[in-house]
Amino acid sequence: MAAGRFAPSPSGELHLGNLRTALLAWLFARSTERRFLLRVEDLDRVRAGAEAAQLTELTALGLSWDGEVSRQSERLHHYDDAVTHLRNDGRLFECFCTRRDIAEAASAPHVLPGHYPGTCRNLSESEREAARSVRPAALRLRACVDSYEVRDLLHGTYAGAVDDFVVVRNDGVPAYNLAVVVDDAEQGIDQVVRGEDLLSSAPRQAYLGSLLELPPVEYAHVPLALNPEGRRLAKRDGSVTLEALTAEGWDVLQIRALILRSLGLPDFSLETALEAFDPEQLPREAWVVDPSNLSSTDDAAATPNR
Ligand code: GLU
Repeated sequence: MAAGRFAPSPSGELHLGNLRTALLAWLFARSTERRFLLRVEDLDRVRAGAEAAQLTELTALGLSWDGEVSRQSERLHHYDDAVTHLRNDGRLFECFCTRRDIAEAASAPHVLPGHYPGTCRNLSESEREAARSVRPAALRLRACVDSYEVRDLLHGTYAGAVDDFVVVRNDGVPAYNLAVVVDDAEQGIDQVVRGEDLLSSAPRQAYLGSLLELPPVEYAHVPLALNPEGRRLAKRDGSVTLEALTAEGWDVLQIRALILRSLGLPDFSLETALEAFDPEQLPREAWVVDPSNLSSTDDAAATPNR
């Protein structure tokens, strides 16, 4: 059965922008009769206690998900199978570059901006052997395209860069782009709703999915929450998490209402929001949140920038 998902990284508390994305992922899934899954992306940046806090916050918002919460750290064998598939197809190469090596080589005129410069793509076996004694290798994809197209419900057809990106880090941990593609397919997820900051990753992921012969997914990259300076909302911006806002006297349902209003949806209950939900009507611009001037009764301080 078709499914959507929310896939938080347990690196800290969810702020208003993350909570809004979670609500949207739930609305997209439930309004299309999909299952809604929760997957904790805990392969890096884990903070003790963050997962439990995030699940409590999502529940407090009234969101429910199907089945058990899954964790990437418990799914490593799935990534190993995908790596074997890619290796058998000759799609991987060992890369010994440091960030600095890449930054230096990437400034060469023939390198496309943001692309891996190809330094380790064609090393000989003896060069690889010598390099292995200096540092462990990451595994990169041998990409045969520069760009790949995806379908996004909010952005239409989107073509973006694909390069020889990392699929296994040099500490042996599967890279985000590999894990997300393998998980979405293996969990039957065919609708990926997440923040717009990940739109540029979608072509790499979709291309990788095609190499692994996985079914394509439908994307919806939703607008981010920004602070008044136009930067992505972050905890340092002030009271932008449930914990901080409730400490200031907000009720969770007031916070949920604020988020629903920012989406142009009725703020009374999740059921009424679900009935009114129409992706076509969603604000396409960022949600500007001024934490020093948030109001629980009107949305003057936090309006969608339509
Ligand atoms: N774990 C990622 C994040 O919290 C989201 C990944 C995804 O939705 O594909 O930013």
